[in-house]
Amino acid sequence: MLSLSQWPKRYHLYQYLDSLFLNWDDKSDTIALLIMNLDNFRETCELFDYRDIEIVLANIGQIIKSSCPPDSYAAWLGSDEFAVALENTTEAEAEQTAAAICGNLNKPMHFHGKNALITASIGWAAAPKDAGDRYELLKTATMAMNWVKKHGKNDCVRYEPFMSFQISRKVNLVNDLAPALAEKQFVLHYQPQVNVISQNIVGAEALLRWRHPKHGLIPPLEFIPLAEETGYIHQIGDWVLYQASTDFNSWLQQGIVLERLAVNVSIVQLKQADFAERVLGILEQAQLDPAYLELEITESQSMDLPEVKPQIERLRNHGVRFAIDDFGTGFASLNHLRYMGFDTIKIDKAYIHNITTNSRDQVIVGSILTMAELLHLGIIAEGVETDAQLKYIRQINIKEVQGYYLSPPVDKTAFEQLLIK
Ligand code: C2E
Ligand code: CA
Ligand code: CA
Repeated sequence: MLSLSQWPKRYHLYQYLDSLFLNWDDKSDTIALLIMNLDNFRETCELFDYRDIEIVLANIGQIIKSSCPPDSYAAWLGSDEFAVALENTTEAEAEQTAAAICGNLNKPMHFHGKNALITASIGWAAAPKDAGDRYELLKTATMAMNWVKKHGKNDCVRYEPFMSFQISRKVNLVNDLAPALAEKQFVLHYQPQVNVISQNIVGAEALLRWRHPKHGLIPPLEFIPLAEETGYIHQIGDWVLYQASTDFNSWLQQGIVLERLAVNVSIVQLKQADFAERVLGILEQAQLDPAYLELEITESQSMDLPEVKPQIERLRNHGVRFAIDDFGTGFASLNHLRYMGFDTIKIDKAYIHNITTNSRDQVIVGSILTMAELLHLGIIAEGVETDAQLKYIRQINIKEVQGYYLSPPVDKTAFEQLLIK
């Protein structure tokens, strides 16, 4: 078995690919490149000491090599990344090789009495279809590998042009986020939260919209993750809270009775040590009583909440409430929510969608409701789209709803019309 130091490195791979392209006369021959990145390698390293890690990597290299045709060129790119170049090959052979590596790595390794499962995310690309030179081949194969990493890992995927579009759209959007606030491209829409019995609007959920000058309206599910990755979420989140509080205050000033302003916050915001102070400062600036505010956190994001518990406590001491959003899509237990200091559960729209016909969803919603009552948590059903759903919800005694059936999120002026009606 070759030790890692004996493996061709990145530089050698580049030289090798350059020579392949230089001597590539018959363009019906395929040159393929597989880029492999090991999954969860850092975590696995913690199982072993450093000397062992090199041996584990050499073992993995051996598995990779033995899964490839004999004339292929395998290189160690450093850390947890390997590459295999295939010359005079076919797309079918490249695909088989990628699948063989993936399958052979996907087996537990026994080492010094410990078990490790180290799978790989493999992306591959082939010239002439995906690339005309070494640079393009590396770029497209790496894009495919990154795509696998992002979409579940432990798989092998060939480069597809849509991967480039996705990346360039993402890069453009990230760059466009920076001036978006100053250029007033963000707007808030509001969706009414309605009391099921009286059908009165009791609250407003602020939902952010980005009016991009070139791409039009961009949904929050596309740009919020980018804002989180880049840290812009803090400025944007502050703006949302200030704007929503100011709008809400103006409705109260007009004598409209509303109980609650719901604002979505990302866990990235909550993790900031000064989050509670920022929120209180903004509320003061907007002159809104904290008791009106309910901050919504998505369930799937709330797993590592212990570190933010003090932030929640500080805000709750000032009267701010907390709701768990999209409840039922993540793993939070109701008891955990109570301990963390949540006040309200928003049942995810997925459970409401078939609530009138699916007995399983009925049982789940029924038991969430029972537990919530025992723990004194409020409940809002989201995504109510039909009269039948509303009737069912009323019948099982859920008090508040949101959904297209009552109103989609609308801009401030339209929301004011709803309030007046
Ligand atoms: P969410 O907080 O769960 O918001 C509810 C989403 O469901 C909204 O999508 C809303 O337009 C949509 N919706 C409302 N009623 C219905 C219905 O009857 N049927 C269906 N199918 N959908 C309905 P939207 O506005 O695209 O927002 C998506 C998500 O983006 C939000 O999910 C929230 O997690 C996030 N988001 C929105 N604004 C902000 C914000 O200011 N800050 C943060 N951090 N996240 C935000
Ligand atoms: Ca929400
Ligand atoms: Ca939701």
